[in-house]
Amino acid sequence: MSKKFNLLHTHISLEALFELMPVAMVLIDRYGRNIAFNQKLRTLHGFTPNTLLRRRVKEFCQKSAANIERDFYMHDKGLDVPDHEIQINNKIYLVAVKPIRDKSGFAVGEMASLTDITRQKNTERELVLVNKQLEFLANNDPLTGLLNTRTYYKICEKLITIAHRNDTPFSVLFIDLDYFKNINDTYGHDVGDIVLKTVSKCIVDLCRESDIVGRVGGEEFSIFLPETDNTSAINFAEKLRAKIELLNPSIGEDKNISITASIGVASKMVHHKAITDIQRDADHAMYHAKKNGRNRVSCLVHPCYVEAKKEK
Ligand code: GH3
Ligand code: MG
Ligand code: MG
Repeated sequence: MSKKFNLLHTHISLEALFELMPVAMVLIDRYGRNIAFNQKLRTLHGFTPNTLLRRRVKEFCQKSAANIERDFYMHDKGLDVPDHEIQINNKIYLVAVKPIRDKSGFAVGEMASLTDITRQKNTERELVLVNKQLEFLANNDPLTGLLNTRTYYKICEKLITIAHRNDTPFSVLFIDLDYFKNINDTYGHDVGDIVLKTVSKCIVDLCRESDIVGRVGGEEFSIFLPETDNTSAINFAEKLRAKIELLNPSIGEDKNISITASIGVASKMVHHKAITDIQRDADHAMYHAKKNGRNRVSCLVHPCYVEAKKEK
């Protein structure tokens, strides 16, 4: 026959229950002394009973002592102390406190519980990290880290609206690597990827903080230059073309690849209401550069294209 238990008839003292609580609990007086605490609190600090009893929290945990001081300030003002977090020995605890008042309402002590929330906090941190990675993947091209077309266009759209409102200039550079297919075919796709990363870095290094760079195609990049007129945009494009020509990335065994790019430039005109309008003109200018022999900068100056003078 099975034995019947009745919790109500089992004698368990309040002290024993306190000791058995699954969270760390401590009774603290106004002087910040430990008056009573349970097993969980002892293990939390790594102390034996006697080393903790009546000792001031200040002696072994400055952070808790500062919190206790603040708690009593709030108890005296009749305010609730909000639950808060504290880190002790690499663990994070959620601390909840309640005042213990005498008959006159004076806070003579407080009861605090400390719940270990380290695992939840770690999960939270991992989620934040994963969200950041997802956000990055949603907005950026994973190979080069540059903005993807969708996000690049979205940002440019906003900047164009601002530029029209403030009547400030802007320009777009469209960069297409020359004979890139040959690089893939000769050295392999992985080497092609290295070239794309090298060129991306070169572009970013040359750009100002306020410039927006996107990878808008396989070997195609677009740069939005706010507050930049046509002359400055052409100068910048030519500087970039010359830099790309000098990159010569190494692919091991003393071998270097020569890369060149054709760049089309377009600057603010009345019909450039959206990014697609100016991007189309920059695209046409880039094709003009290709047609004229590649490795050059071309610019649409209505109604014809002009070529930039090459930097030596
Ligand atoms: P052009 O001078 O006329 O621009 O010639 P091109 O060879 O650069 O242009 P084409 O459009 O013929 O070739 C572009 C190549 O880019 C084809 C494609 O396989 C390659 N490509 C696109 N995306 C990637 C990528 O992410 N990595 C690598 N390695 N190659 C890519
Ligand atoms: Mg292309
Ligand atoms: Mg190309």
